[in-house]
Amino acid sequence: MSHNYRLEQADPNSAVRALSFFGFVIVAALSLAIIFAIIFSSYFGTPRDQSDFMMMTIIITACVAGPMGALAAQNQYRVDRYHATLEAMASTDPLTGLLNRRAFKILANEEISRMQRTDHGVCIVTFDIDNFKRVNDAHGHAFGDRVLTSIANISHAALRGPFDRLGRWGGEEFVILLTNVNIDQAQSVCERLRERIASTDLTFNGTTVRVTASFGIAPLTKGCRLEESLEAADQMLYRAKSAGRNKVMSVAPLKSVA
Ligand code: GH3
Ligand code: MG
Ligand code: MG
Repeated sequence: MSHNYRLEQADPNSAVRALSFFGFVIVAALSLAIIFAIIFSSYFGTPRDQSDFMMMTIIITACVAGPMGALAAQNQYRVDRYHATLEAMASTDPLTGLLNRRAFKILANEEISRMQRTDHGVCIVTFDIDNFKRVNDAHGHAFGDRVLTSIANISHAALRGPFDRLGRWGGEEFVILLTNVNIDQAQSVCERLRERIASTDLTFNGTTVRVTASFGIAPLTKGCRLEESLEAADQMLYRAKSAGRNKVMSVAPLKSVA
């Protein structure tokens, strides 16, 4: 209830705007009806009988309905676009364009529900850029932002289109939902991505840097909660950092590839 109340409070002018639009439509429809009535009566004179009157009413109504329909359609189009924009803003990380934490959780939980009906394997990966603070300290925060955007692009290009979901978990940490993979396959995917990140020159304003990233992988199993899987992946990421960074670590079989 309080949530709805807050939504209503969010824009006190929206009711006024809706009423103004309603008034505008009525005035426009009336004005058009009067204009067309004057034009028709000046051309064809006053209706002589009931059928003339009916015909004139139908023609005037059609002439008014056309522009009013166009107005309503245009308004609906604007509202739909506004909703789509809001939806995108609510689910997208503004810097990288990746899914934000909220949207990623929704998609991952949908995948968990799907897993109840199918038998395909799903893995959660968390990865974090190594020593990123040094990049910021050496080249500035804006440079760091561009590095983050590049890592997002590299990662997006390395994954399988709509099947794997990539999100920015926060700061310099990213999260991936890999579908139809077992742990070994997930490890290969992450290893490929780790190598690609480590071998890419990132050049902005004439300055070139290379960064590495550490990866943690955990399976998402039937009946398990997303948070548990994320926690397990985070622990593996922590191990990858402790083992020297630029590594991929996964839950059972526990191994390092790098
Ligand atoms: P580690 O290998 O242990 O992950 O070291 P690290 O330096 O990457 O980790 P640490 O947590 O010490 O520092 C993370 C840095 O990431 C510090 C913070 O300023 C930077 N950072 C977080 N979010 C952003 C961002 O949106 N833009 C930029 N440019 N920097 C960010
Ligand atoms: Mg880091
Ligand atoms: Mg971090």
